[in-house]
Amino acid sequence: MTQSSTSSPLHIARVVVNLSLDRLFDYHIPDSLQDQVHIGSMVVVPFGQSTRNAYVMELGNHSEFGELKDITSVVGDRALITEKLLELGDWMADYYCCTREQCIQVLLPAVIRSQKVKKKKRKLVTLTSVKTVEDDAERIKVRAPKQADILIILKTHGPTFLSDLTRKWNLSASAVKGLEAKSLVIVEDETDERNPFDQFNVLPSEPLALTSEQTIVMEQVRAAVNAEQRQTILLWGVTGSGKTEIYLQAIAMRLAEGEESIVLVPEIALTPQTVERFRSRFGDQVSVMHSQLSDGERFDEWTKINEGRVKIVVGARSALFAPFRNLGLIIVDEEHEGSYKQDKVPRYHARDIAVVRGKKENAAVILGSATPSLESFYNVTQKKYVLSRMMKRVDDQKMPAMEVVDMAGEAAAHGQPQIISSRLISETRKALDNGEQAIFFLNRRGYATHMQCLKCNFIAECKNCSMNMTYHKKDDILTCHICGESQKAPTSCPECRDPEIKFGGLGTQKIEAVVKGIFSDARVLRMDSDTMTRKDSYRDALGAFRAGSVDILIGTQMIAKGLHFPNVTLVGIIFADLSLNMPDFRAGERTFQLLVQVAGRAGRGELPGKVVVQTYTPFHSVIGHALKQDYQGFYDEEIEARKLLNMPPFSRMAIVQFRGESQSLVHDHSQAFHEFIQHYVSDHCTLIPPLPCTILKKRGKFFYQIMMYSENIQQLSRSLKRAITDFKCHRDVAISVDIDPLSML
Ligand code: ADP
Ligand code: ZN
Repeated sequence: MTQSSTSSPLHIARVVVNLSLDRLFDYHIPDSLQDQVHIGSMVVVPFGQSTRNAYVMELGNHSEFGELKDITSVVGDRALITEKLLELGDWMADYYCCTREQCIQVLLPAVIRSQKVKKKKRKLVTLTSVKTVEDDAERIKVRAPKQADILIILKTHGPTFLSDLTRKWNLSASAVKGLEAKSLVIVEDETDERNPFDQFNVLPSEPLALTSEQTIVMEQVRAAVNAEQRQTILLWGVTGSGKTEIYLQAIAMRLAEGEESIVLVPEIALTPQTVERFRSRFGDQVSVMHSQLSDGERFDEWTKINEGRVKIVVGARSALFAPFRNLGLIIVDEEHEGSYKQDKVPRYHARDIAVVRGKKENAAVILGSATPSLESFYNVTQKKYVLSRMMKRVDDQKMPAMEVVDMAGEAAAHGQPQIISSRLISETRKALDNGEQAIFFLNRRGYATHMQCLKCNFIAECKNCSMNMTYHKKDDILTCHICGESQKAPTSCPECRDPEIKFGGLGTQKIEAVVKGIFSDARVLRMDSDTMTRKDSYRDALGAFRAGSVDILIGTQMIAKGLHFPNVTLVGIIFADLSLNMPDFRAGERTFQLLVQVAGRAGRGELPGKVVVQTYTPFHSVIGHALKQDYQGFYDEEIEARKLLNMPPFSRMAIVQFRGESQSLVHDHSQAFHEFIQHYVSDHCTLIPPLPCTILKKRGKFFYQIMMYSENIQQLSRSLKRAITDFKCHRDVAISVDIDPLSML
């Protein structure tokens, strides 16, 4: 079977069917469909008793099977998946130990696969005669004032959608009908593209004159693009060093050559502010993709890309699979961000796949961060990536001054633990008095992390998960942050009936209450996933903060990323130890990144910034490096430790997870698999015997896992795939694999 469709017509298509069978099937292409079936086309094929959607992987003239069935029909008028993306999907299936079909699911958005959404048609109202419009309006004004209004609106705004006339101007469709009857307007169906930016007016921006550091980096970008095999650059630039301007000018450079660019940002940083910066430079050539789009919007954005009508996409993880055909550049901003890893099958890491796609399509890749992941920085030392550095903020603004407050000492001084230290209180006062703004950061929502009886030690746990329920004061409920189960908070202990139940631990709600108590005159706003529930609440909240109608913003990691507020001079990190105590070898790395990123929100305007870090472990080396903003120092120390323990990036890791409702069944099967797999993996693979997961029970299911380390992850992944296929597993136990896992829980 050949791979190309060039010379004589090819009559056989090898397809994957939309079922997780992980194999190809041959079908005959009837003459009538000959011109429409391409590699990457979505087709409908007879399968068993019914029909199925399928994707064409290869075309050819020979099949080892005899009688072939005909393809029934073709969906769409061009291939939905590019050949290169199909190759990438195959690569992912092999690497991430999953099926091709599962990978196709990420290559192609669900709205496209289902074909349920169609291009939207709307009625467009146009003037019949622009010349006479004023006379016409004057003539009908007395008897039909609304109709006259419409004429004037059309004169000012040009052709307008009927729905806009009724919605924005409150005019009736019957008034438009009246005008149509008088032949003063024409009403026609027009394809209308849903525009997720409808509400924004973006002012155009011009390229900025580069700083000296930016100039050097742009030269490196140029070299990476001009190399025969284009390179991956790790752009290590402190917060505020002007990385975005590099992205913009690198994109402009590709655009000038007719090449396309993909920009990935973490979902949480995909704010209107971020998108605006790209739209203001490139206007309608930019498409956006994120999880908040409606199906219709997603359909339109994707179709624009597939039809080659836009050249740039800015989006979260999934935008990496934009069906560009002449891709020149992929940018991954905040490359260290854990949200680039998908937490369901296929468990791919968008940063890693960006590099793979870049290689396959010979596109340059820029990975940007103020705090690069250990993996990426290690790849620089291994000469896999080129390092570009920007160590100064634009205009030489100073990095914020960071100081640490020992909360144990604070507790001793006050005779009880404090939530806001006196240092942070006085700094906040100062900022408020100067009319400046403050951000308080705590990476945990809710009011209290657990409810505990002081008498019998009862702790409220979720009935579905091995997890403490979090107390939410506003609704007076206990909620599980894993499964969402919630119940009314009891007024006495459910076990011993003692009324002295106590709410322990800190959450953002509690901080809010305390802060409002201390700064009664300040306007306080809390941003976390409990308050940001509406589609626009995030934008509205940030808008209010930027406009200065909020003095203190309290939030979770939702506010840590990529935001830029010139009037923020103070950042308070309420409890820096929170992420440090996680049972995960990356806990130190995460804490360092978080502290530096949050600190980067301070002093981004004319005014210098200050950061107050509250911690119970002021002498922890991670906190020490973060205080000095010393990435290199942190890296050197951390990489040594990883090397000593042979942890990633020195070895590669896979986790095999077993889950089911019966704990003993899950346990026994994980044991059995551990025995079984020994015959499949090579000697240089280290197997850790099965262990219950840190959170043993989630949503009513029990979890056990086997951790594996190997030098050669691809080989390990292939062995795993074979072993899982061969392993006789009880149907009430599910097995899943995570290659390069980010979560050890
Ligand atoms: P980073 O992404 O590295 O944190 P930004 O790209 O947000 O930094 O840049 C910080 C600020 O500096 C932005 O307001 C940006 O418009 C401005 N800026 C960037 N480059 C330049 C430049 N060459 N000249 C003037 N201002 C710049
Ligand atoms: Zn639960």
